[in-house]
This record gives sequence, C-alpha cells and structure tokens, in this order.
Amino acid sequence: MDADHLSQRLAIVASYVPQGARLADIGTDHAYLPVNLAKNGVIVGGVAGEVVPGPFKNAEHEINREGLSDLITARLANGLQAIEPADHIDTVAIAGMGGALITQILTQDFDRLAGVSRLVLQPNVGEMTVRRFLMTHGFQLVAEQIVAEDGHTYEILVADRKAVPEQYDEETLRFGPYLLAEHNDIFIAKWQRELARTSEVLRQVESAHEVPAAKVTELQTKIQQIKEVLQRVGA
Ligand code: SAM
Repeated sequence: MDADHLSQRLAIVASYVPQGARLADIGTDHAYLPVNLAKNGVIVGGVAGEVVPGPFKNAEHEINREGLSDLITARLANGLQAIEPADHIDTVAIAGMGGALITQILTQDFDRLAGVSRLVLQPNVGEMTVRRFLMTHGFQLVAEQIVAEDGHTYEILVADRKAVPEQYDEETLRFGPYLLAEHNDIFIAKWQRELARTSEVLRQVESAHEVPAAKVTELQTKIQQIKEVLQRVGA
C-alpha cells in the first residue's frame, strides 16, 4: 500500500471524506490517507496527527516528498490534540485502531470536534462501543461498510452531526443498522465466526473452577443475539 494505492479498507474510508473537506486523520502513520485525498483534489487542507515519533516522521516525510506541506500539516500529538482552531477541520478520520481507543480519543478532547460535521471511523474491533459513543454524543450514523481483506474483516462507520441522533437498541448497536439491513455475505461470515468463537469462550468460562455468573450471562446473551440475527437473515 502507498498513497497512490490505498488498501480496500482505507479506500472506503477515503470515499466518505466529502469533496472540499478539511480533514484531520488521527493515527495517520504514513499519512497515506490525507496524501491520497490531497493528490486527488478531494481535501483542500488538513492535519495528519500521530502520537508516536516514528510514524510521525513517516507522515512528515511522505507529505514533504509529495510537495503537499502547504496543504497538510503533520503534528506529533495525542489524538484530537492535533487539531487547532485555525485548522478549520470539518472531517475527522480515525482508522486502524480498536473501538475502545477510538472512543477514548474522541471522548478525551471532545471540545476539539466543535467544527466537525463528519466522522469516518474504522475500528478493527469493538464497533459496538463506537456506535454507542456516536449515539450518545450527537452524531448520527449515515453509512456503514464491511470489507474482508488480508484475512481480516473491517467495518467502516460514517456519522454526521445531529442534535438528536436515532436511539438504537442493543442488537442494532452490536450489528449496525445499515450492515444488519444489508446482511451481505461478509457480514454473515463475520457473525458465523463470532458465534463459534463466543461459544468456545463460553465453554471455557463454564469449565472454570469458579464460574463467573455475570460473564456467563453476558456471553449467553451475545450468543442468543447472534443466533437470532443469523436465523432472521436466513443464514
Ligand atoms: N490510520 C492508518 C491506517 O488505517 O492504515 C494507520 C493505522 S495504525 C495501525 C494506528 C496508528 O495510530 C499508529 O501509527 C499509532 O501510532 C497511532 N495512534 C495510536 N494511538 C494514537 C493516539 N492516541 N493519537 C494519535 N495516534 C495514535
């Protein structure tokens, strides 16, 4: 992968960045996403944020190599602290991290999202946590995609600011309103794998010396939810 040849996962993230956006890509690593979008004339400016010095140097190098330092600023910063008011950022992308970390990044400097109208998030795991964050922080899911690449399954969640977002039940938060409605082959395969994995975890937990009742109930609920959804979509 490079800035001219994004992975399918990152290409989908890119496709949800609006034309003319001012983008902050948080956890940018090589800055492939903002560089790609700037080269293709999609973004008119932005920030490539990184908290680790090595990847930050990679981002800086990539931006300079492509002659894009007037458009994209690389910043060594923790999460949304990479965003300054003068950047006029309206779109934030966070891709390739766990859902808990993405949620932590968005929560800990939430005020930095003041001018942001769109979030494009790609949690590697923990999508439910991210959906719950969006629903409770004034962001409405407007699109979801699921992609299988290199033996992994990734979900891309796109949300726009909305004063009163739709309130989802636990099932919708787990499976995703758009992904559930579409229930394509990748979605079904993901949840069949998750059912097998969770059933195995339950078996191990139940065979423990002291069985943790709360954990057993949590796993049983999840298994029941997955079975119901798979049955409903005819899988
Ligand atoms: N976003 C790119 C992608 O999707 O291909 C790179 C993903 S890479 C697996 C995750 C990056 O996030 C790493 O470079 C890591 O240093 C960075 N990161 C992790 N926590 C961060 C934080 N709190 N603030 C900024 N960057 C962070």
